[in-house]
Amino acid sequence: MQNLIPIRNVGDRLVDPFQREYYYLRLSITDVCNFRCTYCLPDGYKPNPERDKFLNVDEIRRVAQAFANMGAEKVRITGGEPTLRKDFIEIVENITALEPIKNVALTTNGYRMAKDVEAWRKAGVSSINVSVDSLDPRQFHTITGENKFFEVMQGIDRAFEVGYEKIKVNSVLMRELNYREFDQFLAWIKDRPIQMRFIELMQTGEMDSFFHKQHISGQILADKLLRDGWQLQQKGRSDGPAKVFKHPDYVGEIGLIMPYEKNFCASCNRLRMSAKGKLHLCLFGEEGIDLRHLLQSDEQQPLLEAAIFSALQGKREHHFLHQGDSGVRSNLATIGG
Ligand code: SAM
Ligand code: SF4
Repeated sequence: MQNLIPIRNVGDRLVDPFQREYYYLRLSITDVCNFRCTYCLPDGYKPNPERDKFLNVDEIRRVAQAFANMGAEKVRITGGEPTLRKDFIEIVENITALEPIKNVALTTNGYRMAKDVEAWRKAGVSSINVSVDSLDPRQFHTITGENKFFEVMQGIDRAFEVGYEKIKVNSVLMRELNYREFDQFLAWIKDRPIQMRFIELMQTGEMDSFFHKQHISGQILADKLLRDGWQLQQKGRSDGPAKVFKHPDYVGEIGLIMPYEKNFCASCNRLRMSAKGKLHLCLFGEEGIDLRHLLQSDEQQPLLEAAIFSALQGKREHHFLHQGDSGVRSNLATIGG
């Protein structure tokens, strides 16, 4: 029988059949979270000691090493809540040490940022995305299930104090829960170097009526921004999926993430690894390819790289969200958003 699996030569980069090159790994290090965001884990994380065997530091290092060897420049550490891991600093240090990774980014709910952001910076976290779904403390509590608005705000202030020049803030756009706060968010970033990113609510397997009630297209905001003199910026090759807008009167920027937009997948430059060692070619619509057995020793590195490369050749051109296919993902905490 003919072997249809493409052979990977040493030095080959991560290019898929649609000529998209992958510079960006999103690496989840835990499914556990201490928040209960309405759109993600409304009933909180349910522990399961049998199931909860997340990648250890060596396994994580080998994943990042494989991607670095194939040209990845950026690793985003995500979760669940990644900073809940006791070995978080050690994980960051291991990834930071790899060439040619230039950017080790973190996505966090920010609950321990005020206390720990200095240590994160020393360990090598080069950029931070923190989730803030509302600037109203009570609404923040309603959305996240946690009364931690002021701690998160202090965390952002502290991040600037310890030397971060820009912070990205993520907010999931919801019709009834925060859409009306758009002008407040704008006022908040007028004099602050914050990239305020509005993420369109994505439908996952655990939600249905919530999605239909709360989903609102980011295009409405894009139109408003353009009308008000904001300008769309050009993207760098390892930039995330946000469309970024700037305005001469604002220190901050606006980012819009619109996964339902036509052509969203055309600029895809990222792959995902779950906290249990499954490679996900797309945020939606597939089960993941289990690579954990190839993460057990440094000698397996060439096999690991070959497996990632050959998996990539099966990547689809685009997701099928428009057709209402939410894939098998029950929520985004298992894959890091
Ligand atoms: N716990 C961290 C946090 O909340 O920032 C990191 C993990 S969280 C899964 C990563 C991102 O995914 C967050 O910005 C979150 O708002 C976003 N997210 C989770 N579920 C989502 C959904 N259904 N639609 C859109 N964004 C979602
Ligand atoms: Fe936790 Fe982040 Fe999901 Fe909120 S979005 S429940 S903070 S993993």
